[in-house]
Amino acid sequence: MAASDSSSGNRDGFVFPAPPEYIPEWAEREANNWAGLDEFEILVRAEEISGKRIEITCSLLPESTWGFHIVKGQRAGIFLNRRLPDQWKRFALFHELYHLLEHRKGESFWRRTATPLSSFEHQADLFAWAVALKEWEICWKESSL
Ligand SMILES: [Zn+2]
Repeated sequence: MAASDSSSGNRDGFVFPAPPEYIPEWAEREANNWAGLDEFEILVRAEEISGKRIEITCSLLPESTWGFHIVKGQRAGIFLNRRLPDQWKRFALFHELYHLLEHRKGESFWRRTATPLSSFEHQADLFAWAVALKEWEICWKESSL
């Protein structure tokens, strides 16, 4: 995950990004399939799409690393920074999940086609934001009932 230069808060050394001003339609649409799912449902869905067996692990990582993923053959691992607050852990999960599902051909493919790595990161962030904003909205509605 790339470090973001827009920050809205700070806790335990983490710098949390501010939401983007605009969420594109593709991200909105895709987010509808994921928002509100629990971790098991997320894995089932992601495994169906990718054809891989996916595991999520929370580990102690430096503050600059929210998460990363590794793909090996038919297996994939998503590692999340254990110290992130829950809602940001989920954000990082969706960010990595997007890489895993949409950028399957890997970095070398993108380098060859001259797609800058930053746009890659930007798309993953937009998807994560689209899901996060939907979920946070649901939480606010429920807590104000
Ligand atoms: Zn990333």
